[in-house]
Amino acid sequence: MTQIAPVDADARRAVKPVICYPTDTLPKPDMALYEAARSGLTKVGDVVVPPREAAYIEVPAGHFLRIVSIEGPQVGDLNLFSGSDLAERFYSGKTRALHGTHVTTGDQLWSSFPYMRPMATIVADTLDWYGIDEFGASVHDVIGTRCDPYTGRLLNGRDYHHCCHSNLIRSLSDAVGLGVIEAEVLVHDVLNVFMCTGFTRDTGQYFMKQSPVRPGDYLELFAEIDLLAVMSACPGGDCSSEHSSDTANCHPLLMEVYKPRDDALEGWSSPAKNQYDRTHGR
Ligand SMILES: [Zn+2]
Repeated sequence: MTQIAPVDADARRAVKPVICYPTDTLPKPDMALYEAARSGLTKVGDVVVPPREAAYIEVPAGHFLRIVSIEGPQVGDLNLFSGSDLAERFYSGKTRALHGTHVTTGDQLWSSFPYMRPMATIVADTLDWYGIDEFGASVHDVIGTRCDPYTGRLLNGRDYHHCCHSNLIRSLSDAVGLGVIEAEVLVHDVLNVFMCTGFTRDTGQYFMKQSPVRPGDYLELFAEIDLLAVMSACPGGDCSSEHSSDTANCHPLLMEVYKPRDDALEGWSSPAKNQYDRTHGR
């Protein structure tokens, strides 16, 4: 039952919000250095992510990972792991707390506790023109989790095996030689590449809408540490109608790895793990 509002309800609602984590004191990535390095790139690897499947690629520290739309509109669910320690992985929630619900050029992708350091920096985003639309939607979100067979089972009673969660599990399993049970606990909340999402203003529900991505669009990351990137081409396709089924039109995605010239990153080094002493007051 809705409670009776206090007499000062309007005044309470009118209180101005305060940014939880002002980022003025965050160390800033040297975007000019990265931009200069991008002028002399050599492609050293690539992998096509088939529709309704996932694929992986290793990205050495100091290299660039370009995620490219090919053939047709498609969103990708990206997991990032440290190349040397699977316990260090992308932390969607903290990235959201620091940079907002959607990420673009200049934002960094942070790793889990206790490492909590930038794993990657976004250096290019051909969809940055989209901004925030009239519904409050934007592109490349860190608010969704990934489509998964458990929620599908709860909501419609069916088992579907090509949700992003399962696709990521199979691909990670192939990448590191773990069984699906062991791999499953390592798969984590994703960066939704090219996905256009927001929260409804009236009910606060997570919504998706047709992605504005066109073939040739790309999101490019600079690897701050050695990375294992695993990405699923979501069974939702461009996420204009539904996911977790074989109904939507799906297309492949491309992951490319580029190496800069040897002297291009002078002065740069991988960020250290978080310096908190981990005593937690004991
Ligand atoms: Zn999905």
